[in-house]
Amino acid sequence: MITVSNVTKRYGEQLALDNVSFNIEPGEIVGLLGPNGAGKSTLMKIITCFIPPSDGEVTVCGHSIFDAPQEVCRHIGYLPEHNPLYTEMYIPEFLQFIAGTYGLRNVKERVEAMIQLTGLTPELGKRIGALSKGYRQRVGLAQAMIHDPEVLILDEPTTGLDPNQLEEIRRVIRNVGKTKIVLLSTHIMQEVEAMCSRAIIINHGKIVADNSATELKSQELSGNRYTVEFDGAVDIDKLRHIEGVIKVQHLQGHTYSLQAKGDTDIRKRLFQWAVDQHYTVLTIQKEQESLEHVFQQLTH
Ligand code: ADP
Ligand code: MG
Repeated sequence: MITVSNVTKRYGEQLALDNVSFNIEPGEIVGLLGPNGAGKSTLMKIITCFIPPSDGEVTVCGHSIFDAPQEVCRHIGYLPEHNPLYTEMYIPEFLQFIAGTYGLRNVKERVEAMIQLTGLTPELGKRIGALSKGYRQRVGLAQAMIHDPEVLILDEPTTGLDPNQLEEIRRVIRNVGKTKIVLLSTHIMQEVEAMCSRAIIINHGKIVADNSATELKSQELSGNRYTVEFDGAVDIDKLRHIEGVIKVQHLQGHTYSLQAKGDTDIRKRLFQWAVDQHYTVLTIQKEQESLEHVFQQLTH
């Protein structure tokens, strides 16, 4: 388990994290979602003991980052943002080296298991410097997991990958997430939808939402939207006067988009209104908010 309690971080005058708190339980894949400069990397560096917070406390598997940083590091695998690797080394050589830094006894076994897990076998003949971005990310994941940590912290693990590589790395992460806590950062909505069970949205160092991905989508951030098609032209002004409707937009033909106040479900009322006005409703559709839209609502 990870607990982050009232963490604040200042770089001189710059406030990078502002009183951030959350817990993560085993079995969760949590997406830390926010625009550039939101404070994602800073938070990850604090959890992994790379930098201290200005205020607050973090514990990982019961160990405090202040009292037992070495214990914290033993329980965490970390893929930093720019994935620093020794480019002149071969993959097994590099992984053996990392395994050595943890003092692992079963080095050969662990290196082989990681190569299998991350699908590095086809590239074993190359130096790390000669690998594509996707394979370098796999090496980064392999080094992060070599000591079989309970927690994985991945800072923008999929940035810069092509669509095929992206799908492969996501698959690896989803797999790993079945047995470990995974906290990954991203500024891309779809990443959260593709991999995470929960999204913590951060903006200007503050948490602006903390929900399961499904909850986020159903949150009534701007009210519900409905797309309605009639069998003939309808007076927009009359539509606006239906109770609960706050905005009407003509889309095309006899199709209109209606925005409702808060969590009012206007479908019944709309249908009744159409009957009263002698209009025929062909379809009413409640629009699913995209996570992208939700994010914009929360961070602007
Ligand atoms: P993210 O990873 O979400 O893009 P960061 O955690 O890297 O955000 O940065 C958060 C804020 O803190 C940014 O405004 C960034 O410029 C600032 N920052 C990060 N590292 C430093 C540093 N070492 N010194 C001063 N400011 C920093
Ligand atoms: Mg970052």
